[in-house]
Amino acid sequence: MAYDNENYDFDFGDMDFLDMSYRPTTSDEPVIAPPPVSMKSPAAATSVAQFSFGYRSPEVVTLDFDDEPGPSTRVTPPRKVKSPVKTTKATKLAIPENVPFSELASTAFGGSPTKAASASSTSVEYEFFGVYCLISRSPVPNYKNRCYIGYTVDPNRRIRQHNAGKHAGGAKKTSDRGPWDMVCIVHGFPNSVAALGFEWAWQNPAKSRRLKLLNLKKKPKESQFAFRLRIVCHMLNTDPWKRLSLTFRWLIPSEEIPFPTEIPPPKHVTKRYGLVEKQTVDVPQTVAGFQRISDCYLCRKPIESLSQFVRCQQIALCSTAHFHMTCLAEKILREASEFEDALFPIEGRCPRCFSSWQWGQLITDQRALIAISTVAKDNLKIAHSERLIPRSGKSTS
Ligand SMILES: [Zn+2]
Ligand SMILES: [Zn+2]
Repeated sequence: MAYDNENYDFDFGDMDFLDMSYRPTTSDEPVIAPPPVSMKSPAAATSVAQFSFGYRSPEVVTLDFDDEPGPSTRVTPPRKVKSPVKTTKATKLAIPENVPFSELASTAFGGSPTKAASASSTSVEYEFFGVYCLISRSPVPNYKNRCYIGYTVDPNRRIRQHNAGKHAGGAKKTSDRGPWDMVCIVHGFPNSVAALGFEWAWQNPAKSRRLKLLNLKKKPKESQFAFRLRIVCHMLNTDPWKRLSLTFRWLIPSEEIPFPTEIPPPKHVTKRYGLVEKQTVDVPQTVAGFQRISDCYLCRKPIESLSQFVRCQQIALCSTAHFHMTCLAEKILREASEFEDALFPIEGRCPRCFSSWQWGQLITDQRALIAISTVAKDNLKIAHSERLIPRSGKSTS
């Protein structure tokens, strides 16, 4: 069997801070979306999903993701417990560009990286949480041009599974109804909770509390996919998703169709083309490869751990611009007169060098640093690794 045996894209690393209502089963799609909260109980309908941005109310930010199914439960910060960032040896995938997935042999994708972290880990992978849309290329009229929305942490592996059928980890709904093309993906979610909520709402615009008032219906001459694209464009303009640093990626650039003119994605949504490549960051192999994090550039007080830490993304040029997450978020929000309305900024500029970044980039960077610190502590036997970051901080891909 050429396929790896991972049936699920669900990021088990996140499970320990979810009060589990997600339970992937062995026979269906990788993640079973529970019914919307409003269907469970009236009381649950008003509950609020939380996930950590490490900001406000000690270490937790509340984002109202109550559209989503499972995360109606309270989520506590994932800090310092096993980081969900996978620690692996960097794996370079040789993936041909701009070829429809359905025309690719499974071997074209190379193997999936192993999940086991080991003493020889030389890099950690940046986390990836994406929600994609498939289009069926089935010759059967009933299935042709059908769309399927799904969640993944590894789109290259996932499309292979869909096209291999359910015995290889593909979803029941896509098994024997393909081949499928993974046309586009929205990524950049801060964690699986946010991505799964997005997936559910994209699948269920008529049930989603945030979307149902829009009464989105497929127009007579609209293709299935054009309708799905219109839905996602509405979502990208709707709270809470419009506050995330998301990327819209045309995985198959030749399949691009124009965004609906009445509702294009907001300008902070990055548009990209081509397949997703795994991004990794190196783990220094000696203590000398690490530096201690500086005091907060804004309040001048020490930053006690990486869970409170974000840094300027001009890592080489602005290497001492380190911040308490709370200090930086507050400064940027106050400058934009958003402090009363928002919990974290969408984008901002470094107070030291004025380079700009999206908040999501800072969080992705921070979570990778936490993973590095875990490797450093466990494998390099570096004590107090939670206050150390790699001296170079150079990322590779
Ligand atoms: Zn501070
Ligand atoms: Zn800077």
